[in-house]
Amino acid sequence: MPAFDIVVVGSGGGMDETNLSGYLVKPSNQSWDDGIIALEAGSGHGALGHIMKRNSDIFGEPSADEDPSKKRTPFDIYANVKCFLLTHAHLDHISSLVMSAGTLGGSSKRIYGSPQTLKDLEGIFADRVWPRLATYDETNRSFRLFYHALYADGKYKTVFPDVTVRTMTISHGKNDSGSYECACFFIKHLPTQHEFLFFGDVEPDSVADKPRNVTVWRAAAPKIPHDLSAVFIECSYLAGRPTEALWGHLSPEHLVQEMITLATEVVLARQALKVGKAKAKNRRKQKRDPVPAEALHGVLTGLRVYIMHCKEHFCTDRPVSHVIGDQCREMLAPHKLGLELLTADQGMKIGTSAVVPSRHACFFSDARFDSRLKRLGWPVEIFVIFLLRNLIDTLVSTVYLVTVAITSFFFGFSLYYYSDYGPFFFR
Ligand SMILES: [Zn+2]
Ligand SMILES: [Zn+2]
Repeated sequence: MPAFDIVVVGSGGGMDETNLSGYLVKPSNQSWDDGIIALEAGSGHGALGHIMKRNSDIFGEPSADEDPSKKRTPFDIYANVKCFLLTHAHLDHISSLVMSAGTLGGSSKRIYGSPQTLKDLEGIFADRVWPRLATYDETNRSFRLFYHALYADGKYKTVFPDVTVRTMTISHGKNDSGSYECACFFIKHLPTQHEFLFFGDVEPDSVADKPRNVTVWRAAAPKIPHDLSAVFIECSYLAGRPTEALWGHLSPEHLVQEMITLATEVVLARQALKVGKAKAKNRRKQKRDPVPAEALHGVLTGLRVYIMHCKEHFCTDRPVSHVIGDQCREMLAPHKLGLELLTADQGMKIGTSAVVPSRHACFFSDARFDSRLKRLGWPVEIFVIFLLRNLIDTLVSTVYLVTVAITSFFFGFSLYYYSDYGPFFFR
């Protein structure tokens, strides 16, 4: 049951201005015409125009009330954007929003980001670099773009119908004023409770002054893979890059290290679930025992990790993201974590979906059952799946209770039978 559809408008990390971070997202059960979340806004209309020329069906059929002979344009798609969700205000993540801000079609749109990201944008929309095209005042209808702050307060905030977002702060290198902060987002589809994790630019915990990625992995761990099965994370540079030249980004060596940390957190989360929440709290306070490497084998099975933001430098025969992807897979292989590592390529359409719990897999892996269910629509689909899950749980519990009752009965009866009160007790 897919939760989100994502079109990759751009996934590069710089130099190539035609391929910068930009993702269009919608809940799978809604149409692209119902509204779109623009996750980052590096590349926009221009890049999307080229993608739509190559793949005119990427957004599917237009809705019934539209003229079928009329072809959708990038302008139509961006007119359907309801909000922009920005991890930080570096130019490779905001440039298309800036360029199109004065001419965007459709209804008014919110720009979501941390207070600092919005402040940085204000500096651009300040009548010098670019006109003042956005405001915090949503009552001022002379504006069509409205700043709306997201806080890293541990809560999920609704940014779109059926979609909530939890923001966490991560480190993205340093500047003269200290650590440069960026955001990552847990993006959740409320009807299915499935989410994906999307990182802005991020530096390795092993390099950062204040390790913050581990906190994100800890928050993600209990949900993997059933409620969270996709992580989008940058890997900007090729392997072998010196640490002092990372500039707040990851390379394959560091990505592998981060995945090992994630796998470790998943192991600890599963252990905590076994020992119970109360003990888990105490356990968190205690010093953690190191998790042996063998205990991590297969722990991330069912998780797809998409690498993005690879910095193209036109020096490799193949796209640099594919070279970096191969390096990551090669370095990950000895650790046998079980995750699937993919590259988020420009023009790709990605579906994020939940992993079906294995104990119920037989019920849901039947394609005919699946397609019949899908035709009935997602509310029925969710209802039936919950019904079946509960039915199985009820059956298992009933069998268990009956077994316990029968065993207790015979045990009690035999005690009585051979006791002073039993009929055949030999005195
Ligand atoms: Zn960037
Ligand atoms: Zn950046």
